[in-house]
Amino acid sequence: MELYSLTIHELQEMLKKGETTSRAISDSVQARIKAVDGKVKAYITVTEAAAASQADAADKQRSSGSASPVLGIPVAIKDNMCTEGTLTTCASKILGNFVPPYDATVVAKLKGAGFVMPGKVNMDEFAMGSSTENSGFFITRNPWDLERIPGGSSGGSAAAVAAGECIAALGSDTGGSIRQPAACCGVVGLKPTYGRVSRYGLVAFASSLDQIGPITKDVTDAAILMNLIAGHDRRDSTSVDLPVPDYTASLARDVKGMKIGIPKEYFIDGMDPAVEKAVRDAVKTLESLGASVVDVSLPHTAYAVATYYILATSEASSNLARYDGVKYGVRASGAKDLLDLYLQSRSQGFGPEVKRRIMLGTYALSAGYYDAFYKKGQQVRTLIKRDFDEAFKKVDVIATPTAPTAAFKIGEKSADPLQMYLSDIFTISVNLAGIPGISIPCGFTQNNLPIGLQILGRHFDEESVFRASFAYEQATDWHKRRAKL
Ligand code: GLN
Repeated sequence: MELYSLTIHELQEMLKKGETTSRAISDSVQARIKAVDGKVKAYITVTEAAAASQADAADKQRSSGSASPVLGIPVAIKDNMCTEGTLTTCASKILGNFVPPYDATVVAKLKGAGFVMPGKVNMDEFAMGSSTENSGFFITRNPWDLERIPGGSSGGSAAAVAAGECIAALGSDTGGSIRQPAACCGVVGLKPTYGRVSRYGLVAFASSLDQIGPITKDVTDAAILMNLIAGHDRRDSTSVDLPVPDYTASLARDVKGMKIGIPKEYFIDGMDPAVEKAVRDAVKTLESLGASVVDVSLPHTAYAVATYYILATSEASSNLARYDGVKYGVRASGAKDLLDLYLQSRSQGFGPEVKRRIMLGTYALSAGYYDAFYKKGQQVRTLIKRDFDEAFKKVDVIATPTAPTAAFKIGEKSADPLQMYLSDIFTISVNLAGIPGISIPCGFTQNNLPIGLQILGRHFDEESVFRASFAYEQATDWHKRRAKL
C-alpha cells in the first residue's frame, strides 16, 4: 500500500514505530496530487513547499517526543475556511484574490497539533450546490468514475480523500455538503451538532445551519479529527461551552442494546433500488450485531427542502451583502459611480447559482413577504426539529440513506436547479434540526459507485453516532475499497 492510501491511525502507528516519516507521507501525497489531480481536479491551491517544511518540522517535533494524532498528517482544507497567507476563494471569482490575514479556528487548532496542509480544495461556489459543478473555477470529478460528480458542496474534500490526494480533509455542511459528497465518493463524512465546532473563519453561507466537520477514509479518523476540532470558541458565539469527550473512546464495536430508528419517510419513490437495498442490508447488519430496530416517523420531512431553501437563501442574501468590491475581493474596473461599482463587481464576481440564491433570499425577506416566507419557514423548522425530538425519545440513533441515488453524471442535473436541490432530501432536515449526522460507505451499485448510510444522533451525542457507525464499519469492508484511477 502506498502511504497516500493509508488512514491517519495507520500512519500514526508507522510513525510511532519509525517505519516512515511525515516528510515521506507528505511527499507521497504531493506525488499523488501530481499524478491524478489533472483528472480529478480536487485542488484549487496546492501548497507543496509549505507542506514539505511543515512535514520536516513535524518530524523534528516527533523526535523530541511530542506526538498529537495529526502531527505530520496531510489534511486538505475546503476553500471556504480562512488560512492565513493562503488564498481562500470559496470557489468564487469574487474572492479570487482573497488572502486572509488570519486562520479559521479549526485551521489554527490543526496547526497547533502540527498537521501538514497539502492545499485548499474545490467546492460549489460559497458552498451552494450538491455536485461541485457550481465552482466558479472548474468541476471536480468523482474518483470512482470521472464522468460523474463527486457530490457537493465539499466535493473537492471528498474527492481528494477518495483519490489519495490527502489523508483526510475538512468540509462544511449547511444542508448535506459533508455527508452527500462523502456518500458519492465512498468515504466517511460527519456533520457535528450545530455549535460543536467553531465556525470562526468559515466564510458564512447560512449561519444558522453551517457546520464544519471531517471527511476521512474511516470512522476512527473522523473521531480523531473531531477530538481536535470540537469545542467552545469565544470567537464563535454559537459554539457551545460543553466538555468535549474523547470520541475515539466510543469506538467500541458494540451496539448491543442500542435502538436504531428507521423513518418511513426516508424510503421514497424515485430512490435508486440499489441504495434502498444497501441501506436495508446495513440495518440488518446492525441488528445482527445486537441493535434493535424500531420504526419511527418524521412526519414533516416533506417540507424540509422547501423550508431549507427559504431559510438558507435568506441568510445567504444577507451574508453575501458584504461582497461589494470595496473592502476586499474582486473590484470591477471602469465603474461610473459607487452604485455602479457594486453592481459591476457583484454581477461579474458571482456565478449564476449564487445570484439565484441572493434573489430568492432577498425576495423571501422583503417587506410584505417576510411573514409568508421567512417567518413561516422558521415555524416549520421548529416542527421538523420536534419530529426528531419525538423520535429520539424512542431510539438512540436513526439510520437512513444519505442520498436517494449514487453519484450522477456531470451535467445531468445542472440545467434544473430543483432536481439538484432534491439530492439533499435526506440530509437537509438534519441541519434544520441541528443534530449530528454521519455518512459511511455501505455498498456499491452495479456500476461500482459507492452508496452512503446516514446515521443521526441526538444533539451533542456524536458518541452514539460514532459507536453505531464504527460497529457497522468493523463488520464490513466497504471502507477498505479504494477508487482505481
Ligand atoms: N446542496 C445544498 C445547497 O445547495 C447544501 C449545501 C451545503 O450543505 N453547503 O444548499
